[in-house]
Amino acid sequence: MSDENVFDLAVIGAGPGGYVAAIRAAQLDMKVVIIEQMESPGGTCLNVGCIPSKAMLDSSGRYHELEHILPEHGIQAKALTLDLEKMTARKQAVVKKLTGGVDSLIKGNKITKIEGRGVLGAPDENNVHTVQIFDHDNSQWERSSGGLNQYSTEKDSGEEKRKAREQIKASRVLLAAGSVPVELPFMPFDGKQILSSTGALSLTDVPKSMAIIGAGAIGLEMASVWASLGSKVTVIEMMDQILPGWDSQLARTLMRDLKKLGVEFILKNSVTKAKHLKTGVKLTLENDPGELKAEKVLVAVGRRPALDTAGIRDAGIELDSDSRRIAVDENYQTSVSGVYAIGDLIHGPMLAHKAEEDGVTAVERMAGIPAHFDYGVIPGVVYTHPEGATVGANEEELKKEGREYAKGVFPIPANGRALAMGSESGFVKILADAKTDRVLGAQILSPWASDLISEIVSIMEMKGSSEDIARIVHAHPTLPEAVKEAALAVKKRSIHSL
Ligand code: FAD
Repeated sequence: MSDENVFDLAVIGAGPGGYVAAIRAAQLDMKVVIIEQMESPGGTCLNVGCIPSKAMLDSSGRYHELEHILPEHGIQAKALTLDLEKMTARKQAVVKKLTGGVDSLIKGNKITKIEGRGVLGAPDENNVHTVQIFDHDNSQWERSSGGLNQYSTEKDSGEEKRKAREQIKASRVLLAAGSVPVELPFMPFDGKQILSSTGALSLTDVPKSMAIIGAGAIGLEMASVWASLGSKVTVIEMMDQILPGWDSQLARTLMRDLKKLGVEFILKNSVTKAKHLKTGVKLTLENDPGELKAEKVLVAVGRRPALDTAGIRDAGIELDSDSRRIAVDENYQTSVSGVYAIGDLIHGPMLAHKAEEDGVTAVERMAGIPAHFDYGVIPGVVYTHPEGATVGANEEELKKEGREYAKGVFPIPANGRALAMGSESGFVKILADAKTDRVLGAQILSPWASDLISEIVSIMEMKGSSEDIARIVHAHPTLPEAVKEAALAVKKRSIHSL
């Protein structure tokens, strides 16, 4: 870099993709600037996604346990009360601690941080890029009415009427602007009755009833939270199973478990209309039962990449063939030379850990390190009670591929530790190539499935076999023993199940 005013890398967006990429780039001696429009870094994940939802899951799970599970343990709490305001304040405190930590990491790595909205400009004759910085109403992630992601409505259009506050120059620009929740055209988010996940994480009262449209990971997580706190939750899903695309056995078993929590399900149905009532919303459904009334409606039908920000459209950056995400090459470079994209903006699952690995891989490749990230081994988790986790292929996918596989399944209630914890359902399923025994995928429904799946991810990364897992010593009594037993079951030699 010859010009000292030119950064080696400008990162737009400080979510898990952007801030991790910025830190890795600084470690590799790049001069880095990160531009974030919100006042706290961490993106969707830390501010309104992964972290606040887990804080609420933890609190609501404890409340439910105290009321419904602990009496079985001989523990009886008298006059149980719920202070939702305090619960929400605790959630915000967790978020603040974590985002404060990210701020310190940014500073500690000597990364320049600019608060504002970054918009990509045209490169100069030396192919140095400019990023214009605009002021942004970044006071909070919620509008006063609650429930809207600020940047979902703030678009680049009209930007030209305002003057940029400043402009920076960078040899490379990494777009990490993330995603926004998808709205249903006939029921836009209002933050009062029609909520996105952001609004559903900030309610001030436990609603008497909640309809959740979409039975993906976010919808089911929120169903767990509000049902545990006493809401009458109904989940409506268009497909014939919850968690579409996941292992059907896991989806069926989890649905049974969530029903025990009081969640009701309407499958193979879709909402076609919404009418606001004085005390809630009346939803019209395509099929039986025809309608459903609820005090609050959470629309959790997916997220879409934030393409209307950061000058993405004006820069002429090409999109994937289905025009939904930014198209990148194996180095994460977009169709515009020197401009890269990662995380929820590009192909692959919209997950924080995927965005982080994208960030690291993209930056290392810029530095000439032959980094590699295998999209086939990205774990996916649904954080319910119990948790569901998956990695690699499931049975339905292997059958479709015509691939011969062997399967080992171990029931969670046959694991001593799980039984001591009161687990009554769940399983670990490992799928291995019929000839080579290489692990092709796994699905787990269990307490702490999110942790258990890591062992299988590691084995798959090492291109290991079910035999490898079966030969590893696991501490007793622990939940990971169920993983070993499932591996043993692949060759029909599980010790603790028939
Ligand atoms: P984001 O985290 O969306 O960050 C993008 C950042 O860019 C934002 O801070 C935004 O303000 C900023 N930005 C956008 N445009 C501009 C601009 N022009 N200028 C400056 N800044 C800009 N994933 C998991 O892996 N595990 C989970 O448990 C999990 N739970 C979730 C729960 C919920 C309720 C939600 C909504 C999501 C959850 N996710 C989870 C998904 C996860 O949050 C995302 O996949 C992840 O945050 C994507 O990271 P990212 O860096 O690509 O984008």
